[in-house]
Order: sequence, then C-alpha cells, then structure tokens
Amino acid sequence: MKLREFFDRALAVGRANDPRGEDGILAYLAKERRTYEALAEDAKGDFDVDRLNNPYHDTRILNGADDVDVKAIMVGIDFEVGELVLADRLRERGAQVDLCVAHHPEGYALANLYRVMEMQADVLAKLGIPITVAEGILDPRLHEVKRRVLVQNHTRAVDAAKLLGLPFACLHTVADNCVTKYLQDLFDREGVETLADVVALLKAQPEYAEAKLHGSGLQILARSIKSEYNTARIRVGEVFVDMTGGTGGSKWMFEKLATNTNVGTFVGMHVSEENLKIAKDNHINVVIAGHAPSDSLGLNLLLDGVTADEKLEVTACSGYERVKRS
Ligand SMILES: [Zn+2]
Repeated sequence: MKLREFFDRALAVGRANDPRGEDGILAYLAKERRTYEALAEDAKGDFDVDRLNNPYHDTRILNGADDVDVKAIMVGIDFEVGELVLADRLRERGAQVDLCVAHHPEGYALANLYRVMEMQADVLAKLGIPITVAEGILDPRLHEVKRRVLVQNHTRAVDAAKLLGLPFACLHTVADNCVTKYLQDLFDREGVETLADVVALLKAQPEYAEAKLHGSGLQILARSIKSEYNTARIRVGEVFVDMTGGTGGSKWMFEKLATNTNVGTFVGMHVSEENLKIAKDNHINVVIAGHAPSDSLGLNLLLDGVTADEKLEVTACSGYERVKRS
C-alpha cells in the first residue's frame, strides 16, 4: 500500500477505538473548523489544515511523499536519531525498510502533544465528572505539558530522517486508543471483582507476560499488598483504564473520580508520585500495567487493524514487541 493509505488506515482504526465515539470526534473536528474559519485570511496560512480531518495532533506523517510504496516497516516505541541510523544500517545490509514508525511523537506531533489532552475531559465527563470540572482540572496540566515540550529539540529526529531519506511517521494516540478500549472492554466483559482478577487478565496478554521477564511488568500501588491472598480479597469497584489522551492527566482527577463516579480502580501505563499520593488519599486502587508493554499492545492492535487484508513486514525495535492477534 502507499504511505498515505497506511496512515489513513491507522487514523481510521484509532477513530474506531476512540473513547469519545465518532459523535465526539465529529464535534471536536467541527470546533477545529470553527477555529480555522474565525482566523483572519492572513493568519490561515499558519494553521495546520491536517487538523480539520485528523483529530490526533500527535499522529502525523513527518517525512516522505504520500505515494511511497510501503511493504516493510520498522516500528519502535521511541524512534530517535539512533533508531533512524539503525534503520539505515539495516538497509545497507540489504534489509527492506520502506517506512520508520515511531509510537511516541516527534517534530510537529511532539510540539502539539498537549492538544490531544483535550480528549481527557470528554473521558472524565463520560464517567460522571461535570465537563466544567473536567476541563477546569485538566487546564493547568495541559499548559504544563505544553511548556515542558518547548524546551526540547523536537525536530532532531525528523531532521535526521530527512537527511537519511527515510520516510517517517508517528502513531501515538491512535495506538493508545486501541489498548485503552481493548482492556476496558476486557474488564467490563469479564466482570472483574478483585485486584487478583484484574492482574490475571493483564498477565494473560503476551505483551505483559513478556514484560515481566524484562522487569517492567505489572505493579499494584496504592494499597499495601503483602500476599496473593490480599489481592484476591481487595475489591476493585468500577475499573477505569486510563491509557490514552496524550500523557498523564491532572492530579485532581483522583479526587473527582472518588466524589463523582463509582471508579474504585485506575489501570494505567504509569503514574507520577504526586498523582499516586492523591489516589491513595482518595482510596482508589492503582494498577500500573507498564509503559512499554502497554504501548506494544496498542501498536499490535493498531497494526492488526491496518494490515487486516494486506501483508506488511514488520521489524520491531526500541522496546516494541510484535505479537499478532488476528
Ligand atoms: Zn507511551
């Protein structure tokens, strides 16, 4: 398939798994269009028109023409200059790499990562937190992420891809949507009652089983777990899988989850010390599934969707493990 088709398929799979649903995405895109149309004519040139059809600012083609043939891709969780040089070395040795795919955003997609976080307010509102509160607690965190990215040299990898002549794309929230929906559906379908039930379902996924061997596996935080016996007795209440929306959310989310929703257990990729403390204070269980294995699971589900009817050779690197489900 061509690079543009590969990318559009990834967008479609990401949208089909988006926690806002298609109506929520269309409402978001309509807001983007209103923002664009309200601009003065001479300011419209600075607006990234991809925003009118692509709801994910952290998912972009970073280098390469739309009509590049894509039969073999190299995928990594982080794809920096080192991985790009690695791809080039492999090509020198005769390997085929038509496209390098980063999970974590680079270039424009990294600089605009904070914009994706807006979807977190919609997710919290669906759980029962008033949208005004959800937007209010998210706002300071969103601006913190925006400022944090400012200090980074965010075009470095894209510049390297251009020099090496390597087509390059990043697929972030589209993959994180996949892992979030997959795990949330799994817990809802199986009707988990205790922490042991949650852990057993996660461990049944090959990505998490593999991660345990690397020491980056599951962790249960926010409760003092002294034995398996305890995990089988601690009830979870409603489970909230929070793995999409750019990056970690507001620390105040845990307080609002405790007062406005039935959520008793948070399942995430990672959690900051500050957020963990607030979760503990509000008696919310925290299960950390692991960052790299959760990113791998999301990428695997995404690529299964993208390649459903077409063969694509995948070389995995940088913490990513390819496991096919279909
Ligand atoms: Zn990640």
